[in-house]
Amino acid sequence: MPELPEVETVKRTLEGLVVGKKVTNVVVKWPKIIKKPDDVEAFKMKVIGQTFTGVERRGKFLKLILEDDVIVSHLRMEGKYKLSAIDEEFDHHTHVFFTFEDGTELRYHDVRKFGTMHLFPIGLEENELPLVQLGHEPFSEQFTSEVLQTGFQKTSRKVKTVLLDQTLVVGLGNIYVDEALFKARIHPERIASTLTNREIETLREQIVHTLSDAVNKGGSTIRSYVNSQGKVGTYQDNLFVYGRVGQGCKNCQSELEKIVVGGRGTTFCPTCQVNE
Ligand code: ZN
Repeated sequence: MPELPEVETVKRTLEGLVVGKKVTNVVVKWPKIIKKPDDVEAFKMKVIGQTFTGVERRGKFLKLILEDDVIVSHLRMEGKYKLSAIDEEFDHHTHVFFTFEDGTELRYHDVRKFGTMHLFPIGLEENELPLVQLGHEPFSEQFTSEVLQTGFQKTSRKVKTVLLDQTLVVGLGNIYVDEALFKARIHPERIASTLTNREIETLREQIVHTLSDAVNKGGSTIRSYVNSQGKVGTYQDNLFVYGRVGQGCKNCQSELEKIVVGGRGTTFCPTCQVNE
């Protein structure tokens, strides 16, 4: 599943591909992707005739901004956008088509069909699900150690579980949460409320550092992720723990171990990340 760095990369490439383009037709072949409005015809009628004015990211969601409305899009497992010529062939995993007046088409491809699109009048999207429940952006000034401390204090859950749930801080998924916890030398099963202020500050720094480093490398290409121009990211070469179970820790050479935390496979170093 794409996490913040991959979605940010898609956002940046998509911006260059669609901004300024006017939608002349919309085709939806798999209506369940459109979550709001309930009626797919209403979605099409609203979008047709509008020009894309921007693309933003909120957590792992894309915001495709039109003149009057915004499409909040979540790629989930396998969703991808691609700009094509209208006469280019497509396969049966291509579910939504935004045709432009210049003869190109933004196509949404999703092998698993888990992706979602919600349409809102501009400005209302932040007040409703799915965006209203989201926590702080990790690159914002609001994402402070105090925010983490306050959030951690009132829970008896494990630190990894808290970081994954998107209500305290957004953007982390299984890859980057394991990486940030490793770099902060925190065991993923530590109960969040037991972290010291110093550990929390280190964790905050490592979350920001890991995510920004990954954004700079275009994200991680694991499974089938590509940006909207078909390019792959290269951060996978920089991973310390994710996907490296059984291999040596890059810090201490101990063999990395895998456990399940909150239902998610979790790789960590038993020497660098001691569960005190
Ligand atoms: Zn180690």
